[in-house]
Amino acid sequence: MTRMGADVATPPLPSLEGLTAEFYGHCRRQELSFQRCSSCGRWRHVPRLACVGCGSTAWSWQRSSGRGVVFSFTVIHRALHPGFDEEVPFVCAVVEMDEGVRMVARIVDEVADRTATLADAAVEVVYVHVADNVVLPAFRLSTAEARGNDRR
Ligand SMILES: [Zn+2]
Repeated sequence: MTRMGADVATPPLPSLEGLTAEFYGHCRRQELSFQRCSSCGRWRHVPRLACVGCGSTAWSWQRSSGRGVVFSFTVIHRALHPGFDEEVPFVCAVVEMDEGVRMVARIVDEVADRTATLADAAVEVVYVHVADNVVLPAFRLSTAEARGNDRR
């Protein structure tokens, strides 16, 4: 059997184990949450056991505003995995959230033609159902940005 079967064309999914499973569990409920240190108040992402600021292992999940700005981005024109063949071109961005953490996610909307305007663009989270038990956070240009309001 070749490696060109249907399984190969399925985009890779996150490993739903440990703290990562908890993060994506929030996403399934359409909530974007990050860990926040109970000792110094620092937010963190990606999920991990201890605070990089103070070393504390005391933390809790806290809900994000879901808003941020595009810190950096790229337009993916060539799929490096067959599961994305039908989706190119698409925008992948590093979004700096209001809480200060940065996360990598796709930008939805028809922004592939507007890439010159994406740096520092205000964005808000949306949820993309990609499999039975997997919902990925993604971002769209915020409605405030679309109206021309600068939130900074
Ligand atoms: Zn801390």
